[in-house]
Amino acid sequence: MVLKGKDRLDALTGTWTGQAAYEIITHYLTTGEPWNGDSLFLLEVLRAEGAVERSVLQDVAFSLQKMLKRMDIVARPGESCFLVFLLGSHHRTDIEQMLVRASQVLPEHGGYSIVAGGAISEGATTTCEQLLYKAKAGLFRAKHTGQMIDILEDAEEYRPEESDWAFDPIAEYVYDSSSADMDFVREMMDFFYSDERQEPAIEDGIRKMCSHFGADAGYIIERKHGGKGYELTYNGKVAALGVYNNNLKEIPCLVGDRYLELLQAQDVLVCNRIQDLEKLDSIVAERQKMRGSRSLMQCPIMESGECVGYISMNDTRERVWTRSEVMTFYLVSKIIGAQILPIRFQRFARILMDHDRLTEAWNYNRFLSEGKERLSNASLLQAVVTMDIKNFKVINASFSYEMGNTILVHISRLLNSFTGGSECFARIEADKFILLLEYQSLNGLQHRLNQLIRRIEQIPEDEKLAFDINCIMGVCLVEPGDQDMSVLADHANTARKTLKDYHKSAYSFYNREAEQKIVKERELTFRMKGAMENREFIVYYQPKISLEKKMVIGLEALVRWQMRDGQIVPPDEFIPLFEKNGFITELDLYVYERVCELIESWMQEGKTPLPIAVNISRLHIIEPDFLDALIAISRKHNVPEKYLELEITESAFLHNPEMVLEVAKDIKKQGFVLTMDDFGTGYSSLSLLKDLPVDIIKLDRDFFRKVLNTREKVIVSNVIHMAKELNIQVISEGIETREHELFLKEIGCDLAQGYRYGRPAPIEQYLPMLYEKNGEG
Ligand code: C2E
Ligand code: MG
Ligand code: MG
Repeated sequence: MVLKGKDRLDALTGTWTGQAAYEIITHYLTTGEPWNGDSLFLLEVLRAEGAVERSVLQDVAFSLQKMLKRMDIVARPGESCFLVFLLGSHHRTDIEQMLVRASQVLPEHGGYSIVAGGAISEGATTTCEQLLYKAKAGLFRAKHTGQMIDILEDAEEYRPEESDWAFDPIAEYVYDSSSADMDFVREMMDFFYSDERQEPAIEDGIRKMCSHFGADAGYIIERKHGGKGYELTYNGKVAALGVYNNNLKEIPCLVGDRYLELLQAQDVLVCNRIQDLEKLDSIVAERQKMRGSRSLMQCPIMESGECVGYISMNDTRERVWTRSEVMTFYLVSKIIGAQILPIRFQRFARILMDHDRLTEAWNYNRFLSEGKERLSNASLLQAVVTMDIKNFKVINASFSYEMGNTILVHISRLLNSFTGGSECFARIEADKFILLLEYQSLNGLQHRLNQLIRRIEQIPEDEKLAFDINCIMGVCLVEPGDQDMSVLADHANTARKTLKDYHKSAYSFYNREAEQKIVKERELTFRMKGAMENREFIVYYQPKISLEKKMVIGLEALVRWQMRDGQIVPPDEFIPLFEKNGFITELDLYVYERVCELIESWMQEGKTPLPIAVNISRLHIIEPDFLDALIAISRKHNVPEKYLELEITESAFLHNPEMVLEVAKDIKKQGFVLTMDDFGTGYSSLSLLKDLPVDIIKLDRDFFRKVLNTREKVIVSNVIHMAKELNIQVISEGIETREHELFLKEIGCDLAQGYRYGRPAPIEQYLPMLYEKNGEG
């Protein structure tokens, strides 16, 4: 039989129980080390009349304990009977000496006496059973013969006649406080009940008690709410001893639960030497040694009949706590315990407020506030993870709500053991959880996430459920400067939602750059219509020139978005977006109308208009009435189509050649000038060119960004050559330098556009130059 801790110590005297002693002695005897023999004796306190008083038993136990050497033990197997085992001692005199000293503590009056029987083994193999049998026989014989002590040696055999000689049953014991130092107890009462500040007063109270006992440290351990182990809640350290190691501030669940069960049965656990604790609970003893304590007293804190923690008084030296000290400690601990209960209650109320009822996990609010603190005090890298069970609704609906709850509680427990250090987690709502994790390497983090997934997938098996569970997670890596937990949670959610069509468990990392782009796009989409109404889109113009004639032969209209704050957004940032959301059509028409207005004004001023090129998106030209819309506008402003040049990007011709060919023909029919923009960026086939009714091809500016090799130069000059043969003009865009210009001459291209001749700018900037050089205005 394995004894539970609480069955191992005798409540009245703090000595071992008979059973526990039996186990320990058996353990000693079977370790197989050479020894010279041990002695075991049983001592019974007798009284001529009436029952033996408990205080006498306590005094005897106390005096016996004081005489023990390191490995010796004393136990109380019967109501007034003690067992003493002296390891490695085989001298009668040792036993006799102890007896004499023990009998000295007996009260002078009351008819008390002591009788004992012993057994000595002299190195031969002996069992505890045999020793005990002999000691009992000795005790039996001593009682009969009226000797004080009767010791049986190894060889001696004795069989008493009476067969039934069990120990008297031990009566239940409830602490009596008569020997306590009532003055001090009263002092502590005054101290606590006159002080309003509860929390700090407890530590002060512990310190007071320490100094009263001349002990080095006192502290309180309490069970955490939510079942996450035990923690040090008050530390009334006096001397060097104390909790110096952070690990000792927390006690894991398993260790704490077992120890509290032991304490609960004790009223006071008295340990004069830390070795004694070892036999009760080796892990706790080890922790006490790490603390530096050599002796201690502990008293459980009870809450509604349940042990929820304990008060501890520790000393760096071995000491035999006196009965008065034990009683005083017991009473003062009760006072402190009573002080703690309302504090615990308040704590509990707070916990109710920020914990999830079902799973006892933190709720989201608590996570946000606590998480924020942990973000700013991080020593490791951190990640915020949101998690969600796939098809949880189906589980709830097709199995049962209770089953759903079971799973949620299980997940919560799992996350509880999964997180450690300054990690934390919460249940956001329904089947959604959030975690703040720490990591050192991305690999390590991924490994843990995989582990978590596996453990969650394991739940149905653990709970014996007949379905699968999958979960998806979104991960947002915390970056320096991140402070707002809810933003990080949003990010993690964004990443998680990318997996919503996933049928297996998976996680996804949040991509900040991609996401910032999306946010920016959303903002632009939101503002675009209003921007058009407010005329935030303005048209810039860039000249096209003839190198030979050294004059401007036309302009290209290029749109800009000038936001209200003055910031100018280049088209690359909004054109692709408008192409996606369809707004490009409106924008093209808007630009087209501004251009028509300009040409109209020139005509009204009697100037010969320069043709102006307008970019038409490839997504625009495939709309059925696109050309009608353009014509309607130019008619409205009385602008002949020949002054309007439509630039369509090369890729448009590649994607839907037949259709675009038709459109191109229509454009030409209406009298517009048609330009193939960005020529050379796609796989422009020369054969395509042959069939297309374009007037101009515009060599993409990419050609001039790098130095072309001979082969490329051959291709370019061939294109130009062929185009010329087909009666197509060639213009090059992106001409910035003299080298570029020389290259144009080399390949026989006369028309150019680029920063070398003028950047896109409001038309006012070009007006004087245009009409002066062109001899008008
Ligand atoms: P694109 O039609 O090829 O326009 C030429 C681009 O090259 C313009 O950029 C212009 O500012 C730039 N550029 C001109 N000379 C030089 C130079 O010497 N060096 C360099 N590095 N760049 C030069 P922008 O204005 O940013 O326009 C970009 C693109 O946006 C245009 O390319 C066009 O495809 C589109 N876009 C502009 N306005 C409109 C519009 O109203 N409607 C449509 N659908 N697209 C437009
Ligand atoms: Mg263009
Ligand atoms: Mg271009």
